[in-house]
Amino acid sequence: MNDPIQLNFIQSKFRIASSLLIFAPIKTKFMSQKPVRVRFAPSPTGPLHMGGVRTALYNYLFAKKHNGTFVIRIEDTDQTRFVEGAQDYIMDAMKWCKMMPTEGPGLGGDFGPYVQSERKEMYRPYAEQLIENGKGYYAFDTAEDLTAVREQAKQMGMPNWQYNSVTRGSMKNSISLPQDEVQRRLEAGDPYVIRMKMPRNEDIRLEDEIRGWVVVNTNNLDDKVLFKSDGMPTYHLANIVDDHLMEISHVIRGEEWLPSAPLHVMLYEAFGWEAPKFAHLPLLLKPDGNGKLSKRDGDRLGFPVFPTNWTTAEGDVFSGYRENGYFSGAFVNMLAFLGWNPGTTQEIFPMDELVEAFTLDRVSKSGAKFDPDKTKWFQQQYLRAENNTVLAEILQKEIEGDYPIERLAEVCRLMKERATFVKDIWTEGSFLLERPTEYDAKTTRKKWKGEAENYITEFKTILSETEDYSAENIEKVFKDYLASKEIGIGQVLPQFRLVLTGKGMGPSMFEITSFLGKEETIARIEIGVEALRKNEE
Ligand code: GLU
Repeated sequence: MNDPIQLNFIQSKFRIASSLLIFAPIKTKFMSQKPVRVRFAPSPTGPLHMGGVRTALYNYLFAKKHNGTFVIRIEDTDQTRFVEGAQDYIMDAMKWCKMMPTEGPGLGGDFGPYVQSERKEMYRPYAEQLIENGKGYYAFDTAEDLTAVREQAKQMGMPNWQYNSVTRGSMKNSISLPQDEVQRRLEAGDPYVIRMKMPRNEDIRLEDEIRGWVVVNTNNLDDKVLFKSDGMPTYHLANIVDDHLMEISHVIRGEEWLPSAPLHVMLYEAFGWEAPKFAHLPLLLKPDGNGKLSKRDGDRLGFPVFPTNWTTAEGDVFSGYRENGYFSGAFVNMLAFLGWNPGTTQEIFPMDELVEAFTLDRVSKSGAKFDPDKTKWFQQQYLRAENNTVLAEILQKEIEGDYPIERLAEVCRLMKERATFVKDIWTEGSFLLERPTEYDAKTTRKKWKGEAENYITEFKTILSETEDYSAENIEKVFKDYLASKEIGIGQVLPQFRLVLTGKGMGPSMFEITSFLGKEETIARIEIGVEALRKNEE
């Protein structure tokens, strides 16, 4: 019951009134006096997918931008799909992304409770109000009745039977049954649901902040169940009642809810309430092809689709961005660009700049393709921009060995241009603090020959007589040596790197030498030369 109305349905039945778009005022829309209150309303049916995080983010940005309030409401009316731990997961993920709501479960606020199952008793009077004003009706059909009528319709070539203004007359409800029978059933406690009484052939119009005017004819809408026989409202009723009671000004949510929006507009009208503004965000598309991004794409192409790790009741772990080493700032920056752009070439936006730049009129209508490589690029940019001591503190927790934080910070400074994640700094740069035990075979084969050992030994003597170990001076000393011997850089530098680091590539050798200092440099050259000589024999 908590599912959106099928998207293919809306695609075939909706007319997006694009010609009316030009009349939609854009900039002035949010100047209204009503305070901005937006909500993120996840159902605790599992971990939050990237798309859900993006919805939360746009709500957060919109609220902050307009000095409004960001609410989180847990929509758990469908108890059959409830997943233990999902709510905690969602809250934790939002915290990691640094986009905490100010009202919600455990956060306080004047409009609580913020979990729908805790509001259970509130909904029935609203459902009954719809019956009283003729907008809703009781339906007594059992699950078996419904299966039978669907089956029958299928056999007659109508696979998509709907409970609607045409078919309701032949079903068991308070419209089709005599008044006294309805009364008798209610008094006898027969199970019933309350359905929306969709009018026939009316155009419902709604102006979506992103898509412009959307028009749907009620003949294409069914009589949705609003209140279930278990005494719980369905998503549609609870969502509208809560958005109204929580004084939500803008509903910003995924495109999959657009087909439900006309029903929601009708419900607001039925209650005589002012509807909030709607903004339906574009779908997230898989990196290859055009389909919707799914968990399976993540497994298939090797990237996380969840913000943080999620462990199922069976113990299966789905990996998250946090545990994969992404910084939340990079993840959030990347997500912000999935469906929005600032209209400039700037790509790096810390949260406060996103708040500043974000507007709904720059959110696109078309689906946003997720790009794992671009995601890594954002991470690289954030890593490079991060303070070296901060990086060192993260690194210290991830490695064995007790190194002074200042030394680790230097390692980070030297290595971060070559890394995507903090862990790469160590994979690539642990040699800075640990002497090499192996020497790159390819470099050895290609470069450790001829005069190599002689040059390195000579250069070692010069280094042992050098006092100034700044990178600039080491560079000068090195270049002077090349000039005095009239030899090229390729005859000494790769060999020097090999003995000092064991590697064929890496950051500036002058920086490395300066970092190691005289004693360590000389010791490493001696050990390296010895080892390579043995290697040759
Ligand atoms: N509970 C719905 C969901 O899980 C919320 C839809 C809405 O924002 O109205 O996505």
